[in-house]
Amino acid sequence: MCSLPNKMRPRKFSEVVGQEMAVKLLHEGLKKNIIGSVCLLNGPAGTGKTTLARLIAQWNCCENIKDKITKSNSENEASPNTINVEENDLCGQCTGCKDLINGSHPDVLELDGASKTSVDDIRQLLEGYIYRPVKAKKRTYIIDEVHMLSRSAISALLKTLEEPKEYAQFVLATTEIEKLPKTLVSRCFKINLESINKNKISEHIKNVSDKQGYYIEDDAVNKIVFSSKGSMRQALSILEQAAIVFENKIKSENLDQMLGLASSDQVENMVQMILDYNLEGIKNTIDKILENGADPLNFISQILTFIRKKKADKKSITIGFMLAQSCVDLNKSPYPAELLDMYILKAALCLKVFPEDSTTQNDCQNNLSSSKNEQNFSENDQPVNSHDFGNSKKTQTKTKDSQAFVNNSNRSEKSEKQSLSQLKDEKHTTNNKAYQIDQESKVVSNNTQNNSQANDTSNTDLRNKALDMFNKENK
Ligand SMILES: [Zn+2]
Repeated sequence: MCSLPNKMRPRKFSEVVGQEMAVKLLHEGLKKNIIGSVCLLNGPAGTGKTTLARLIAQWNCCENIKDKITKSNSENEASPNTINVEENDLCGQCTGCKDLINGSHPDVLELDGASKTSVDDIRQLLEGYIYRPVKAKKRTYIIDEVHMLSRSAISALLKTLEEPKEYAQFVLATTEIEKLPKTLVSRCFKINLESINKNKISEHIKNVSDKQGYYIEDDAVNKIVFSSKGSMRQALSILEQAAIVFENKIKSENLDQMLGLASSDQVENMVQMILDYNLEGIKNTIDKILENGADPLNFISQILTFIRKKKADKKSITIGFMLAQSCVDLNKSPYPAELLDMYILKAALCLKVFPEDSTTQNDCQNNLSSSKNEQNFSENDQPVNSHDFGNSKKTQTKTKDSQAFVNNSNRSEKSEKQSLSQLKDEKHTTNNKAYQIDQESKVVSNNTQNNSQANDTSNTDLRNKALDMFNKENK
């Protein structure tokens, strides 16, 4: 059975969804014959590189394209600004087009650079290079993931490109252009592809669902778009899988577990619980969503998406800003699930202690994050030196109060560390990092509960109370 991304692959320039600039550049380049012998398609996975490569090949194979161009050019002389894409598009009906679509055209050769990386693979691909194409105007060589070819394979390719044949067309595709030698890149007609616009993916998912006879809820479309991360191929694959699993009825609530997402209600409630400083609720909800298989990074991204779409107040935006930083840290961490509650509790704590001061909230969040990371993952496992903070460029602009808070919080981390080691001694545990993180998150959680005793009076009072609290802990 043909998979949905392949089945829905555009066979004409007018059918390509998104990538308007790239498609226009390529189509015009082909019409005006300025692409040259090597075209390089660069962009993230699933954004249409293979589709465009096959369209170039089809352009060389389509038997009707020449007539159309001649006709169109003579018409365009009268009105040079009118470009009729349909008129100059591929026919999709001739033997050349059909053979290409079936993958049986003798003048189109493809190589997957990810699995066939050696110089012998390149030599095999180029075996018939000196001969003219059998049927097509040009023989098209498509090399996918070209950056993964070995050095000797790239050298062999470069040597061939130094003496281009007018009947040969190379199409190279890469997700990592910086890994290619400049000597190769400089020979190419480069086309850059971007992640596809979310609205375009959403629209396409709805159209394809209609054509395939799927029932799909609007919120389910949103979840597929969210999980596709700008890749149309990924979006269509998810749609196909969901249609198989849920027998063509795709409901939003059924997708959560499949995609590692929290429900929309859980996301909305989480933001409210951070605003309300509901630590117990935050802990319980996070336990629940992790139990259901939600991905920690996805959860933070879902919160950020929710805030961006639905919330415009200062506090929510501050939460978004603090969690965006956590996303970066979680992405690097080997224990994202164990750290998720800690980062969200921290955001709630920072918002509670400094409800009006966004600079201090961010300092608070950043310093807690960076010093925590040092403790969890650095080799020497030392708390961050407050002297270093004082000398760093970042902290030179800090207010006295926030500087004092940072220094005190560093000292309090020392006491956290001591209590942590006591806990470890008592329980005779081994030096298990996962356990350590678990304990640290409990210590942080206890601290946040202590903070909740502070009365919600004024910003200055809260700061003083926070400072007193940390000073007491150090005695
Ligand atoms: Zn054709």
